[in-house]
Amino acid sequence: MTRMLIIGPPGSGKGTQAERISERLGVVAISTGDIFRANVKGETPLGVEAKKYMDNGDFVPDSVTNKMVRDRLSEGDVEDGFLLDGYPRTTAQVDYLDQILADGDQKLDVVLQLTADDEELVSRLLGRAKETGRSDDNEAVIRHRLDLYHEQTEAVVAKYAERGILTQVDGIGQIDEVTDRVMQAIKEAQAA
Ligand code: AMP
Repeated sequence: MTRMLIIGPPGSGKGTQAERISERLGVVAISTGDIFRANVKGETPLGVEAKKYMDNGDFVPDSVTNKMVRDRLSEGDVEDGFLLDGYPRTTAQVDYLDQILADGDQKLDVVLQLTADDEELVSRLLGRAKETGRSDDNEAVIRHRLDLYHEQTEAVVAKYAERGILTQVDGIGQIDEVTDRVMQAIKEAQAA
């Protein structure tokens, strides 16, 4: 049983690694970005609201995001553990997640941060933009998303570091290499 988070700047490959970790550990991966994108595609009220922020690279407001996460974490498939990808991204979201977990008498085992250099990320994301046509993958928006990561999400990482549950992995390299590093880091963190 593992309850963990994966945190990383946009373009760090966290979604790809999250899928792989989820398969190997047998826990469900929950990506707030994917949930938002599915809602945007389905033109649900949540999607219409979220799109206004996502297209500019802004965070969807905590009031919307927190509720969505609380609902998702109340579903049955998280009973055997979960991997949250892309949440929390603000310290207010950390507090909210703490409350959800406390309400369920649960705690996080590992917080994994993927690290990568900003210029490497920008070039990766510009490449991805050509392939996928994601509407939040143009250079100005990419740089804004990176700024938000530094301004807000690094404070999230610092909180988990203080709690002693943070493990950092270099996200640069072949996908398989990074997965090997990630799985090793999780094993070590769980043994600690
Ligand atoms: P991602 O796929 O994780 O890069 O997320 C794509 C976009 O979804 C972000 O740029 C935000 O607009 C929105 N989003 C995802 N997760 C969150 C979150 N925890 N808080 C606020 N907005 C989020």
